[in-house]
Formats: sequence, C-alpha cells, structure tokens
Amino acid sequence: MAYQALYRVWRPQTFSDVIGQSVITQTLKNAVASKMTSHAYLFSGPRGTGKTSCAKILAKAVNCLNPHDGEPCNECEICQAENENRLNDVIEIDAASNNGVEEIRDIRDKVKYAPTEAKFKVYIIDEVHMLSQGAFNALLKTLEEPPANVMFILATTEPQKIPATIISRTQSFTFRRISRQDILERMVYILKDKHIEYDEEALNIIAASAEGGMRDALSILDQALSYGDDQLTLKNAQEVTGALSNDQITAYMTAIANNKSAQALESLYKILESGRSAVRFTEMIIRVCRNLILYNSNSDLSEQMDNTIMTKDLLNLADKFDNKRLFYIVDQVSAAQKNLKNSNQTDVYMEILTVKISEPKVIDQPDVEEVKVDNQEVEKLSGQVEKLQKEIKNLSTGNVQPQSEKPKKATHKSKTNHLNKTAIYKVLDNATKSDLAVAKDIWPDLMSKLSVTQRAKMRVADPVAASVDGIVVAFDFELWYEQVQEDTEFLDELSNSAGTLLKKDCQIVLVPKDQWPRIRKEYISNNIDLPKKENVESKAEPKKDPAVDEALNLFGNEIVDIKDD
Ligand SMILES: [Zn+2]
Repeated sequence: MAYQALYRVWRPQTFSDVIGQSVITQTLKNAVASKMTSHAYLFSGPRGTGKTSCAKILAKAVNCLNPHDGEPCNECEICQAENENRLNDVIEIDAASNNGVEEIRDIRDKVKYAPTEAKFKVYIIDEVHMLSQGAFNALLKTLEEPPANVMFILATTEPQKIPATIISRTQSFTFRRISRQDILERMVYILKDKHIEYDEEALNIIAASAEGGMRDALSILDQALSYGDDQLTLKNAQEVTGALSNDQITAYMTAIANNKSAQALESLYKILESGRSAVRFTEMIIRVCRNLILYNSNSDLSEQMDNTIMTKDLLNLADKFDNKRLFYIVDQVSAAQKNLKNSNQTDVYMEILTVKISEPKVIDQPDVEEVKVDNQEVEKLSGQVEKLQKEIKNLSTGNVQPQSEKPKKATHKSKTNHLNKTAIYKVLDNATKSDLAVAKDIWPDLMSKLSVTQRAKMRVADPVAASVDGIVVAFDFELWYEQVQEDTEFLDELSNSAGTLLKKDCQIVLVPKDQWPRIRKEYISNNIDLPKKENVESKAEPKKDPAVDEALNLFGNEIVDIKDD
C-alpha cells in the first residue's frame, strides 16, 4: 500500500476529534443536532487549523443516517462513502486551481438538481479568496437564492479578500492557531500509537515551527521521520525545520557575552545566510537567556532548566552575564520580535538588535525599561552597524586598523550637505507617473544585477519619482542612504545599469525617505512661478492651492501627496 501522509491518516473524523477549535465544533454540532444548519458557511483562519476537516465533518454530519448529538456515526453507508471520498453529493472545489467563472457557472447550473444519494448536496470551496471577480458574482447569485437541500462551505486563509456581499450571506467562523501544547500532545499521541521513539526536544522544535498549524506539524513530523530509522531525533528535527544548531547559538551568545559586536554580527550573518528564520532565532535567544537566568538564580530554579538546549558551552557563559543584563536582552529581543513580524526588512532589525545587546553600557541608562525604537535610535544603531560592518571587512582583508577611517568620516558629519537637491529637482522638473511606473518595473531586474553586498545596501530603498532620464530613490534608513551616497563608484554603476535596462541615459539620485516629503513640498512651492507665501502650504485649502494644482498637472497626484506631512 502506498505511504499515506500522517495528516491524512490522522485527519479528524468527528467534531470532537478536531483539536483546538472547541467553540466552533460545539456550535456546529448543536446546529446539526437541532437541524438548524445554515445554507452557507465561511471558515476562515490560518492554514492547517482544521477548516477543511471541519467542512468534511459537517458535510458528513448533515447527511449521516444515524447522527449522535450532531456527530456523524462514521459507520453508515453515507459516512463511509464520504470517508472514502466517493459521495457524489459532496463536491470539493479547490479555487486555487479552479478559479474561473466557468466552474462556478457549472455549480449554478447543477445546483438545481436534487442530491442523488444524500439529504444535502454540499459544496466545499477551498481557498475561496482565489476566485475571480466574475466567479464571485456568479457565486453570489447562487447564494442569494439558494435551492433547498444545498449547503455551501467556503474556506479561506484570507477572508479580507472576499467581497462583503458574499460574507454577509454566510455564517462566519474564525479558526484560531492551535496552541503549541495541543500540537505537542497530538504528535505524542500519534507517535505512541505508531510505537515510534522520540526526542522531546525534537517535538518542541517541530511544534514551534508549525506556527499553530496542525497539518504543518504533521507534515514536518513526516519529513523528520523519513530521515531516521523509525525514531525521531533532535538532529533530524533541526535539519527539517531549519532550527538553529547549538554551535550557531553558542557562537552568537559568546560574542554577545564578550561584548564583541563585530563577531556577533558575523555570527548573525552566518545564521541568516544558512536560511534560518530571524523570528525563530530570536525565540532561541530568549530561551537561552531564560535558562541562563534560572541557572544564575538558585539551585531550585535551575532544576527547571531546559537541558536539551543548554550545552556545557552555553552554561559556561553564565558567569559572564548577570541577570540584569539577561533581562535587558530578553526585553530588547521581545521588542525586536514585534518589528520583525511586521517587516520584510528582518535582517536590518536583527543587525540593530545584535549591536544593541552586545553593548553592555546601555543597561546603565535609567530608562532601560522603556523599549521603544524611535528613529533616532535606529539611526544611531544603524551607524554602529555600518561601522562594524566596515570593521569586519577590514578584519577579513587583514587591515587591522579600522580607526583609520574615523577622521575622514567626521568631516562628512552634516547629512543635509550631501543631499543633492539640484539633481532631485532636475528629475522632478520632468517627473511623470508613467516614468515612475517604468522605474518600479525595472527595479527588481536592476537589483538582480547587483552583488549580494550591494543588494543588501539597497534593500531598504525604492524609487519614489522618475523622469525620462532620472530616478529618485528613497532610503528607509538614513545611514544606508549615506553609505550609498558616499560610494560614487557604486552610484555610477547603478545609474549605468538602470540606463542599460531602460535603453537610455538615466541618473539615479538618492534621498532619505524621512526627508522626501519635505523636499517634494519645497520643490512644489519653490519651483512654481508664484509669489511665495510663508504659510500657503499649511493653511490654504489643498485642492484650491494653485501651486498644488500645477504640481498635480506636472507629475500626477500619486507623487504630489499633499497629506503626506
Ligand atoms: Zn453516519
């Protein structure tokens, strides 16, 4: 017999089998038992949280010949047919592959016919947000006048993409992520049933990386098992999930303990390059700190330590950290996690965090409790990162005197000095929306021509305005901006590459993003042929301001965002 994936074999067959969604399953059970089911349901929630399983159970329960308290019996012919996926009256559609209007029209035509074997004809539409607008319209028509004995169950991971008109015609349920504990228990149950030996920590790693999805957890478990001979080892789990090895975390924490920012960054880069997730890495730092705190505290507490991650090398670091510093690190890492989850610039935040926690002196400041990341701080730390990156570069090229660059740097102190307003204005003089669209269009190709380090510098930058022969590029972090701005050779290379892609001359001009609205506004009020009034920009009605009107004519209202500052 062909191998069947764990998540298929262990798919729940009754509402009470479903893990972590008791409110939903209880409600559905009650509805079935009291014959009060709705003709349309919307199941939304993260992947692998039981939406499709519940849809199948519901389809079975409403059709079961001997239901008990709203649960399907799984024994009658209808239940058995459905369990073997051969019940013609339950129709599963994957909108991710059937997203055309035709398929939904097909439903509309066939929905009129009564079910052939069962009481209800049930349509389960998975990933319903993938339907085209036309298909949604066709579906809406069916939902507006549902034929008797038909039930629709729509499942989605992205409910915000579903038209409100559809949502309002369904009974909606939101599935939650499944707790780590619930996932752990389920895996233990399955492994025991299969008589497979397992390492506790391996299960922890899998449960953590499944991020609340049972299906993901079981798929990872499957993969980890396929590595080893009928046992689940820590190494296999780390391999499959991309979890950090103890060596990696030890190298990083040692650098932090010794206040060696450059080494810590170097070790961070190795971890990120090996494809480890930044969020998971931060979780690991917190776990290590927590264990070190327990170890430092007293013998009672240290018994609660997680010995699977605390190697001898890590425990040896305990002397170098006092608990005050460990708590500080945990605070900083937790604060960074919030940013990481909302950002696609995770590497930048990790760099900043690393520099921050490898500097012990920050703890002496009175306001450590307040873990806010304001722009000034980000800027200051970005500066330190930049300096350290240079140091790393120098160390690897054998130049052991990184300080030699310092005096030169000091003369460049004033940031606005190298802001090339003339060049920016030149682009704005002829800026159009369509040129900006073209610039954005070639941007990914342009980035792909750069080296890894060059691309790293540009990952916080985007085109914000463009003319026929120039592009203004704004940087999220002023310090990255400065670094590229100073590197004229790289800047020329960028302009040349852009020129090649556009098949014409093109000059790239840089600007820090936080200064961009001001510069743009200045341009609008300075450059337009009107007597300048001090407060015309702030006080005048935006729509009636002739300067703004003129600017709108010049380069479209996308660029002239008058609300921007
Ligand atoms: Zn049954």
